[in-house]
Amino acid sequence: MSKMHFLSSIQCDFPLHSPYPGGVLNIPINNNNIKKESPLITGNLKFTKCRSSNKYTKIIIPIPLDFKGKKISAKQEEAFLFNEYLTEKFYRESRITISDENLVNPGDDFIPRIKEEYQLSLKAKQIYTPKRLNAWEMNIPVVGQISSEFGVRRFINDQPKNRHSGIDIYAKEGTVITAPLAGEAIIASNFFYKGNAIYINHGAGLVSSYSHLSEINIAKGDLVEQGDVIGFVGQTGRVTGPHLHWEVYLMGISINPEVFLSKPL
Ligand SMILES: [Zn+2]
Repeated sequence: MSKMHFLSSIQCDFPLHSPYPGGVLNIPINNNNIKKESPLITGNLKFTKCRSSNKYTKIIIPIPLDFKGKKISAKQEEAFLFNEYLTEKFYRESRITISDENLVNPGDDFIPRIKEEYQLSLKAKQIYTPKRLNAWEMNIPVVGQISSEFGVRRFINDQPKNRHSGIDIYAKEGTVITAPLAGEAIIASNFFYKGNAIYINHGAGLVSSYSHLSEINIAKGDLVEQGDVIGFVGQTGRVTGPHLHWEVYLMGISINPEVFLSKPL
């Protein structure tokens, strides 16, 4: 695996401006209006910046799926940097049945392991390393069919569960998974729910994860380039069939991976 490259002129087109819960604001601000201190943002939402030219800096704000507000504004020294109204986004419901009761309500023996893995993944998705890749434009990691979209309200055996925080791509077991963007593997191991899983740090608050792999093709600490084979589609962990569960986090917030794709799904 070769070294990561960081270029000096930055493209800030991605993530695509998508003003709804689960999406991202990507708003150009005149550089003259960018001050040293942090802007005040509605609900203390986290943000990152991308200096796109001598004239503009993009303010990038991931919007949590459970965000309830109708607009997001950013203020600096009492002046509005922007005031952005959100659009409505419909997320459907999904009800599935899993017969292995241990995977739905795991026995006490598994609780310490599950807790430890929860902390591990929480830490991984919140990693912030300052260096930013030239462009955040991703390729789709697997050629397959979208079997569950981002944000779906899920019920497993009629119990309400967390919203679907990634995209499921159905493909035959063993189908190649490639890195959608360059980065560093920060986790490559087996989880109770996620099965064989990989987390990649792309820098500047952008992290992605890949779950239920049949096989992992990289090791923790490896640097990957866009297009490198990182693993293979499988059905390890809590699944009903072979698929890739793909998640993208920005500043620790799960957002719709589609906003990083130049070609819509
Ligand atoms: Zn999934």
